[in-house]
Amino acid sequence: MNRALRKAYLEALQIDSWVLRGEPTASSPGEARAADAWPVLTREVETCERCDLCKTRTRTVFGVGDRHAEWFVVGEAPGADEDRQGEPFVGRAGQLLNAMLRAIGLGREQVFIANVLKCRPPGNRDPQKSEIAECLPYLERQISLVRPKMILVVGRIAAQTLLQTDAPLARLRQKVHRFGESGLPLVATYHPAYLLRTPSDKRRAWDDLKFARRVRAGG
Ligand code: URA
Repeated sequence: MNRALRKAYLEALQIDSWVLRGEPTASSPGEARAADAWPVLTREVETCERCDLCKTRTRTVFGVGDRHAEWFVVGEAPGADEDRQGEPFVGRAGQLLNAMLRAIGLGREQVFIANVLKCRPPGNRDPQKSEIAECLPYLERQISLVRPKMILVVGRIAAQTLLQTDAPLARLRQKVHRFGESGLPLVATYHPAYLLRTPSDKRRAWDDLKFARRVRAGG
């Protein structure tokens, strides 16, 4: 067990723990809490059995990127490549997502990327409502740990989930939504897998990305 994880467990059990002089410490109480919370959350996701997807997954797909990122990108659920590799958006849709981010000046390593579901739905079927309900708290905890300035949601299912609506994506894009208690700006656009099937909508996606960049810049 690593030090941060051990410390978090000891704190949860209200057991005093001691840090050797000279051990690196976080620069603020908030950072210390986040540093402790990440390994706990990672472990919870890795060992999750809250729904039946745990029976068919190869690996959980926690999320990847800068834990202090300004941009938090939310997708739907792992596909076959992600299920094998344990990282979101590593297949063809992932290549396109990387290009979409690059187009607005963002490297993949500069953002944090996570899905609504941490496990692959078999045969890439849509997530079920009950699976989303069980898994969403993980994403919410990730967002509150990263404390991004902006959320970019790709695809109808992720957008409807975060915005708690049944509205079609066409009505959700090109608007600034607010997420969570802090009212984080959230912009929705097409899922890259959809854009691979429907390249004629790439122009609209580009408009959405430029819109998101303007929102983040405060313009
Ligand atoms: N599609 C998603 O929504 N997420 C992934 O990680 C891969 C494909």
